[in-house]
Amino acid sequence: MNDQDLGGPSGSLDPEDWSAFRRVAHAAVDDAIARIVNLRDGPVWQPMPDPARVRFHRPLPMTPEPLAEIYAEVKEGVLPYAMGNVHPRFFSWYMGAGDLTGALADFLAAVDGSNLGGGDTAAAAVDRQVTDWVRQMMGFPAEASAALVSGGSMANIIGLTAARNAMAGVDLRHHGLEAMPRPLAFYASDQVHSCHKKAMNLLGLGLNALRRVPSDAAYRMDLTELEAMIRADLARGIRPACVIATAGTTNTGSIDDLAGLADLCRSHGIWLHVDGCIGALLAIAPQNAHLVKGMERAHSLALDLHKWLHAPFDAGCVVIRDRTLHRETFAEEAEYLEQAERGLAATEFLHHYTLETTRSFRALKLWMMLKQHGVLRFGQLIDRNIAQARYLGKRVAANPRLELLAPVATSIVCFRVNPGGMAESALDRLNHEILFRLQESGIAAPSGTTLHGHFCLRVAFCNHRTQREDVDLLLATVEEIAGAMEVDMKARTD
Ligand SMILES: *Cc1c(COP(=O)(O)O)cnc(C)c1O
Repeated sequence: MNDQDLGGPSGSLDPEDWSAFRRVAHAAVDDAIARIVNLRDGPVWQPMPDPARVRFHRPLPMTPEPLAEIYAEVKEGVLPYAMGNVHPRFFSWYMGAGDLTGALADFLAAVDGSNLGGGDTAAAAVDRQVTDWVRQMMGFPAEASAALVSGGSMANIIGLTAARNAMAGVDLRHHGLEAMPRPLAFYASDQVHSCHKKAMNLLGLGLNALRRVPSDAAYRMDLTELEAMIRADLARGIRPACVIATAGTTNTGSIDDLAGLADLCRSHGIWLHVDGCIGALLAIAPQNAHLVKGMERAHSLALDLHKWLHAPFDAGCVVIRDRTLHRETFAEEAEYLEQAERGLAATEFLHHYTLETTRSFRALKLWMMLKQHGVLRFGQLIDRNIAQARYLGKRVAANPRLELLAPVATSIVCFRVNPGGMAESALDRLNHEILFRLQESGIAAPSGTTLHGHFCLRVAFCNHRTQREDVDLLLATVEEIAGAMEVDMKARTD
C-alpha cells in the first residue's frame, strides 16, 4: 500500500485539517466548562429515551466520519445521559464529583502519552511524588511504598495479595498454594465490600476462607466475635492470616475499631489490611481525622482517590508498609524490560509494584489537583460533607414520619419513610417507589440499600459541590413524593 492510499498528507492518524481539529477541540473545552457552570440548572440524572439508544446499535464504522459530526453526536447523545455524580445532588453509592482541573490533566496526560509501567520520564517522577504525597497524607513511614491503580478494588487486591504471600509460610510466588503448610483464613465484618470476595476468588483462597465477622448495632466489626473465630481456626490448624478492617463501610459509613484491631493483630501476629476506600481520606480532615486513628498502623491500606479527592475516574492507591515485600510480591524481570545504566530505562520500573504492566499517567491529575487546591481544602470539604450528613441525620431523627436505620458515623445517612401502621413488605415497596420517583425526578439521586432486612434510602455525601440547601431540597422532595403516594394509596383503598 502506498502512503497516498491511506489518504491525508502523511497517512497518519493526525488531523488532515489542523484548524478544523482546533475548532472542535476548543468548542469541546468551552462546552465542558459551560456544562459545569450550569450544572445546578439541569437534572442530576435522566433516563435515556429509546430513540437515543438506537445510536448505539449502528454498524461498525469502516470509513471516516468528520470529527465535528462525531463530537455533535457525543454532545447530543452521550453527555446528557451521564451518571450525574458531578451534580451537587448526586448522593448515590460513593463516588467523587470530578474536577475540571483533573479533567484537563487527563487530557494533557493523554497527549503526553507516557506509559507509567516505567521509564525515566517526568511522568514517572510525578507518579513517584504523588504516591509519596498519598503515603504522607495517610501517616505511613517513609520506607513504605505506594502505587496508583485503577481504583479501590484493585488497591485491595494488591494489599491482600501482599498479605497472602507474607503469611503463606512458604515462597508462595514460586511454589503456589499447593505448597502451603496450612490453609489461611482472612477475616472481615459482614459489612465488607464485595471486591474482597473477588480478591479471595482471584487469590485462589476461595470465598469460604473469608470469615464474615458479625457487626454490632453500629455496623462495626465485633472484636469479641473476631477473637473467637481466630481461636477456633487456630484450634483447627488453620492459620489466621489477615484481618480486613473497613474504614468507612459502603452501607453506612461505619468505621471498624482500627486501633483495637491493630492491637489484636499485633498480639496474634496477623496482617492488618485496611479498606479505606471511603474513609482513609478522613486522615486529612481537620475536624474528623480522629475517626481513623490507628489506620496508620496497618500493614496495607487501600484508598480511593476518585472518591473524596474527586479525581476524575479512575484513581485508587495502595500503600504497603514493607516496600521490599510489596516489590517481592509483584516484581518480575524480563529481558525486554531491563533497568539500564543510562537512557530511557535508567530507573526502576514502576510495574514491579502493580499487576498491570502498562498504566496511564493518572498521577498528573492528582498532582495538578493537589497543587491547585492544597490538601487543607480537600480536608475541609470532607469535614463539610460530614457536617451535611449529620445535619440530615438530625432532621430525619426529628421527623416522626422518617426513620433513621443506622447511626450517622461519617458521611452516609440511611433512612426510610415510615408513616406508621404499615407492614414491612409494604414499607419496602413504598420506599423503593419513592427512590425510583426521586431519581426519575432529576432533583436528587440517592441510592438504596437493605439494613437488617429493611430497605432504605441511602444518602452518601461525597461531593464538593453540595450545599446545605441541597439537603433541604432532598428532604422536601422525599416528603412531597411520599405525600403524593399516600394520596394515591388512599384513593385505591377508598
Ligand atoms: C468503593 C469501594 C470499594 C471499591 O472501590 P472501586 O474504586 O469502586 O474499585 C472498595 N471498598 C469500599 C469500602 C468502597 O466503598
